[in-house]
Amino acid sequence: MPDSTLPSLAPDEILRYSRHLILPNVGVEGQRRLKASRVLIIGAGGLGSPVALYLAAAGVGTLGIVDFDAVDESNLQRQLLHGTRDVGRPKIDSARARLHDVNPFVRVESYETRLTSANALEIMRDYDLIVDGTDNFATRYLVNDACVLLGKRNVYGSIYRFEGQASVFAAENGPCYRCLFPEPPPPGEVPNCAEGGVLGVLPGIVGTIQATETIKLLLGTGQPLIGRLLLIDTLSMQFRTVRLRKDPQCPACGTHEITKLIDYDQFCGVPGQVAEHVADAQVADPDADLTPTELAERIARGDDSFDLIDVREPWEWQMAHLDRARLVPLGTVADSVDSLDPNREIVVMCKSGGRSGRAAEFLRESGFRRVRNLAGGILRWSAEVDPSVPRY
Ligand SMILES: [Zn+2]
Repeated sequence: MPDSTLPSLAPDEILRYSRHLILPNVGVEGQRRLKASRVLIIGAGGLGSPVALYLAAAGVGTLGIVDFDAVDESNLQRQLLHGTRDVGRPKIDSARARLHDVNPFVRVESYETRLTSANALEIMRDYDLIVDGTDNFATRYLVNDACVLLGKRNVYGSIYRFEGQASVFAAENGPCYRCLFPEPPPPGEVPNCAEGGVLGVLPGIVGTIQATETIKLLLGTGQPLIGRLLLIDTLSMQFRTVRLRKDPQCPACGTHEITKLIDYDQFCGVPGQVAEHVADAQVADPDADLTPTELAERIARGDDSFDLIDVREPWEWQMAHLDRARLVPLGTVADSVDSLDPNREIVVMCKSGGRSGRAAEFLRESGFRRVRNLAGGILRWSAEVDPSVPRY
């Protein structure tokens, strides 16, 4: 329904945003919604650069930027908001100039300051959502807690070396960063910023994902990364999502024992370590892929706590299948949901893991508690467990 309180678009804006306006999920209404939106970006560095550039280009009406730093030559390898001639200049100034060049219709509100417990709530209060582009734990916890206290969504991203992460925290009914990591690691365990290298293009990948999530949230379209943590490994070029649950014991969004902001000592963020942390934390991912060897071991020890569902087609099943499996071709999974027990663990398999991955996602969305995909499917089973199974 058209909302008459939204700002209208000038003819120049209609031309500029024409590729958005013809998208059914955006349209004139959505573009006006973007124009009315206020987004605060914490940090004008590696992540903040692509976030700010794309949100400005997309026509988000007001962008707030918090940064206290000056442009250093070593920033230019990844912080594309700033150019060589900006070295020595406050990042906030070069950011504003660049963003106005990208899109003069966008209002830039700048805060040349370090975000602290004393100013965070005040700065963040008037924005619709917050994009976390910080590079250290202290600010990350500050941003998280302030978002929980203010009831604002936190579009999170972090990078380390060749690995990145993204999620949307503090959405209504979704987990926050502290649900995942209740307390920051002690400073001694984390290498300092100068030691931690980063592949220059990585913040470009993670930041554009944050910008995408931001636009989706503002438009109310698609499935945002709420309750999911996206893990990116650029060396193997694998994208993986793990499910996150809201923790009722979370000191921020669960028990609400955190009622004011905390200034931790400044130290740098290391998602690589955090990723390991993820493996043993609350998230010991119940939906992680199962390898053929793991499946073979479970079958060999008579484990019947799971149902094995093969989503291939009948002609493939005839060539080869596992005795334990039940055939439910992908196209019939939706109709067969009632015949499966959502409280039992389900292992899905196909030829190489793609179709079963889709089936697993569908089953999780349908309320199945524990769904695991057989990594590599029957081809990998043949290679690693039973060579007598024909490959096709
Ligand atoms: Zn929480």
